[in-house]
Amino acid sequence: MNKKGLLEREKISFLPTYKRIPIEILKGEGVYLIDKNGKRYLDLISGLGVNALGYAHPKIIKAVTEQVNKFSHLSNYFVTDIQETFAEKLLKFSGMDKVFLTNSGTEAIEGAIKLIRMKFGHSNKIFSLTNSFHGRTYGSLSLTAREKHRKGFAPLLPNIGQIIFNDLNDLDSKIDKNTASVFLEFIQGEGGVRPIDKEFVNKLFELKRKFNFLVVADEIQAGVGRTGKNFAFQHYNIEPDIVVAAKAIGGGLPLGAFMVKDDLRDVFEYGKHGTTFGGNPVACASGIAVLDFINENKLEKNVEKLSIYFFNELNKLKGKYSNLITEIRGKGFMIGIEMGKYGNEIVEQLRRKNILANLTAGNVIRLLPPLIIKCEHIDIFINNFDKILSNLTK
Ligand code: PLP
Repeated sequence: MNKKGLLEREKISFLPTYKRIPIEILKGEGVYLIDKNGKRYLDLISGLGVNALGYAHPKIIKAVTEQVNKFSHLSNYFVTDIQETFAEKLLKFSGMDKVFLTNSGTEAIEGAIKLIRMKFGHSNKIFSLTNSFHGRTYGSLSLTAREKHRKGFAPLLPNIGQIIFNDLNDLDSKIDKNTASVFLEFIQGEGGVRPIDKEFVNKLFELKRKFNFLVVADEIQAGVGRTGKNFAFQHYNIEPDIVVAAKAIGGGLPLGAFMVKDDLRDVFEYGKHGTTFGGNPVACASGIAVLDFINENKLEKNVEKLSIYFFNELNKLKGKYSNLITEIRGKGFMIGIEMGKYGNEIVEQLRRKNILANLTAGNVIRLLPPLIIKCEHIDIFINNFDKILSNLTK
């Protein structure tokens, strides 16, 4: 048996790209993670928004086990009932017409970029918004605006620019007849849980009607019921041309997708895009279980209802600790609590109280709980957060 602790072994084996949380998890159960000493952590991060149904969900276990017993992989030369069924359900869930399945979010963004370049050529410009995050492979990194992720990787893809987040004048001045598309997270996740203003979206669609470019909704973090609707763009009364999803759609297995409206159906010919693993049958089986469970239990309604309570309680704390909490942002179960200071300290103190949260964009405590949490779990967080803040003000 290896006498070294896991964290020590990891330092020897892995490239140092991740700041690991110093807990050794043995298993997950519903909304809890259990470490090697039997300590149970309330997980309000759910694998960075992946585990929408929590851990070890019986429907996912059943679906995955059944599929592994048939075949875990077939090449994409074959059509399979499991992949087709997942595709049909995902398209119905999103209101889109055609899909390409991938293994991750960044790959799905790559596919969307390729489709746009294929349609418009390289001279037409693609935009994302400042502070955005769309992934880390070269194409999606070229859209990701955050300098922290881009630094050291230039040159990135040519003819990609940024529009200042929520800035109507910048939007108006940059979009023209040479615009191919605009990528948006309707709520920026890594950027600190920042929703886009309705006026900005309305202006964007006004310009779209004039110049006929494509709008891409990056729903990788905000999609699949998390904000109280199937996809976050549905809060804005508009229809994107392309929707990109990943994270929660695979129920913990690697699965991503980009979906397009019917008028983009013929942009790719045979062989123009492909993947070995994308749309893996086991991942699709898990994805079907997730979509069915959300639909059958109207989970997005649960999110909508419970999040009203969650935001009310958080706003009460903001009133009580106005010197510490700067802003509460987000929608549904995508919640950002911007702290003036102590962000890191609070996340660590929460962990000592067996609650897992995450810090993003410097000082924003981010909560992405599984969609199955109950009122009692919200109360556990609120009570502990209250105690921590109270001690910090002493
Ligand atoms: N886009 C958004 C909005 C994301 O939040 C993420 C991941 O956090 C990505 C893209 C990249 O997805 P992946 O990590 O699966 O490549």
